Amino acid sequence: MSDPKEYQIRQACHHLWRQHPSGASTFSACSNNDCVNLARGGLFCAECCTKDLGKLVGIEMAREYNATVMRIRLMEHEMQSDLKEDEVDEIFPGTRDALGSLGVKQ
Ligand SMILES: [Zn+2]
Repeated sequence: MSDPKEYQIRQACHHLWRQHPSGASTFSACSNNDCVNLARGGLFCAECCTKDLGKLVGIEMAREYNATVMRIRLMEHEMQSDLKEDEVDEIFPGTRDALGSLGVKQ
């Protein structure tokens, strides 16, 4: 018997948030062998987590959720410091590029 859908959605969202840490973290190869992205803690990368969430709520909603999580993390960071863009890139590798490719205004 599988978990209730509500629980599955919460888990998928949690995994996605985990891929956007609020501070420096360790990234390594995504656990999905077909994926070339980096993932926090060697788990599944944000893109793979987004696809997993998409299976539950639809890929458009999942992509929007992922973009929103990234924006919140950047906002949190901005509120806490006066970091320059290259410093943000160091702490959140790929986030600004990913937001741009999603068409999200930064
Ligand atoms: Zn991946």
